[in-house]
Amino acid sequence: MPNPMITCEVDTCTHWLTGGRCGARNIDILPEEEGRMARQPEHTECKTFYAKGGITSYLGSMDNVNWTGLAKEPFAPGTQVTPTVTCTVDSCRHWASDDLCSAEEVAVSGRGANECQDTNCQTYAGQDGSSAR
Ligand code: SF4
Ligand code: SF4
Repeated sequence: MPNPMITCEVDTCTHWLTGGRCGARNIDILPEEEGRMARQPEHTECKTFYAKGGITSYLGSMDNVNWTGLAKEPFAPGTQVTPTVTCTVDSCRHWASDDLCSAEEVAVSGRGANECQDTNCQTYAGQDGSSAR
């Protein structure tokens, strides 16, 4: 299954790159409240969010940087660095077994976020198509 292209507006995250790209190697999308089924985008979060806070925050998130993708991008016109996605929001119609996401594109929202709970997967869509963006 192809991996979705991630666009993100959370510019307070250490993984955020100009142009709304994400430089993490993998992101985890989770229901915001453990044990509660997500029914709308606001019930989801990007658990990989890591708040910017000086050089130590970058060092703290370095083990999840997509170094290979970042190194290749300048030499592969038309390609854009994007992380792999692991998602446990199984109430979403894009969710696929093995915690994969079948959407072509995923938009992460939460401009100015201070913590994971401030972020959302805006591409979440209910099984009946509700909340589809
Ligand atoms: S909030 Fe998530 S998707 Fe956005 S830059 Fe950070 S890790 Fe990447
Ligand atoms: S679109 Fe659905 S399956 Fe894909 S990352 Fe978002 S919540 Fe998870």
